[in-house]
Amino acid sequence: MHVDHLIIGQGICGTFLSWYLQKANRSYVVIDEANPNTASRVAAGIINPVTGRRIVKTWMIDEVMPFAQNAYEKLGSALSLKAIEHKNIIDFFPTPQMKLAFHHRYEKDRQYLSIPAEQTKWKNYFNDDFGFGEIAPCLLVNISGILSAYRSRIVQQLQEEKFNIDLLRYDKDLIHYKDIKAGSVIFCDGAAGAGNPFFKLLPFAVNKGEVLWIECNELPLSNIFKYGINLVPWKENIFWVGSSYEWDFQNDLPTELFKEKTIAHLKRLLKVPFKVIDHKASIRPATLERRPFIGFHPVYKNIGIFNGMGTKGCSLSPFFAEQFAQHIAHGLPLQADVDISRFRNILTKTSQYIP
Ligand SMILES: Cc1cc2nc3c(=O)[nH]c(=O)nc-3n(C[C@H](O)[C@H](O)[C@H](O)COP(=O)(O)OP(=O)(O)OC[C@H]3O[C@@H](n4cnc5c(N)ncnc54)[C@H](O)[C@@H]3O)c2cc1C
Repeated sequence: MHVDHLIIGQGICGTFLSWYLQKANRSYVVIDEANPNTASRVAAGIINPVTGRRIVKTWMIDEVMPFAQNAYEKLGSALSLKAIEHKNIIDFFPTPQMKLAFHHRYEKDRQYLSIPAEQTKWKNYFNDDFGFGEIAPCLLVNISGILSAYRSRIVQQLQEEKFNIDLLRYDKDLIHYKDIKAGSVIFCDGAAGAGNPFFKLLPFAVNKGEVLWIECNELPLSNIFKYGINLVPWKENIFWVGSSYEWDFQNDLPTELFKEKTIAHLKRLLKVPFKVIDHKASIRPATLERRPFIGFHPVYKNIGIFNGMGTKGCSLSPFFAEQFAQHIAHGLPLQADVDISRFRNILTKTSQYIP
């Protein structure tokens, strides 16, 4: 079999990259091992325009959010599913300091923040002692639905197996893997990228996140609720509750500690009954400087990477997949702060490690 591109991984990155390469009339094969606990399969799907305790505007959000909305609507219509919807965040203030921080930011920039007048609105559901603000517009991506529907759509171009990098052969023009010959291989392998021999010297800063799914019949599905952690309407009476950020971890397994702490937090927070129905953990492919890793290796020129989306895969991957596909198909430039050529010196050293 001869294709233009061999893509490793069908998380949100491999999904959008193959989608845009196809639009650019490129042929591809995707190899994905169907691990149910990868970042994209565990993610909530939130696109939040503000970030962190200081509630600052998320990097590039004014460009990537409208792009993402449009991209998910088009992908959803091709897959016959509702891929994205508006779900604003009700941001409860856990402390008087957080209330002050929100009000302070609101005075400076009101583009995405508001302070609703009706501060008793959620009193029947939450112990919200210090009130709340609202973050809008926010989007919620049906990421699990998209990944499985897209997988069925590309079934002819998909090989469900673990890619074994030891079997990869390459020369100047062609990649060889088992019976596949490809013009290039592009790794969309998420957190596994941090151990990929071609790219492991890039400054990855992978971190672990844990999540609970709870059944809660009385909580409204109208919003995402944030109170230290997020409660995200998942489907019917199910909420996604998470997540943690751990930089020092032994494995990607869920822990009793997170479960116990989160249940205790929910008991303090919620006035309505709930039941835990699932618990998962996954590793985020985050990077030290919080910018993606995109482009081709400076030494192995037909070996590429599309990775490093960190906590923002849902908003960043459509925008940059389209940019990368345009770069591949038409030679258009990659944005300098995502292009891996910024690590040319480091990556050139990688070649010493590869036979
Ligand atoms: C708990 C949690 C919550 C999150 N919530 C959000 C959120 O609300 N909004 C948001 O924007 N982002 C969120 N994120 C971050 C988001 O999940 C990531 O940015 C994004 O999913 C990364 O996508 P990816 O395709 O790069 O990696 P992945 O989703 O990890 O996909 C990589 C794929 O490659 C495959 N693969 C790897 N190695 C091999 C191999 N050797 N052979 C075959 N297949 C292989 C894996 O099986 C996987 O399918 C969250 C992450 C976590 C952990």
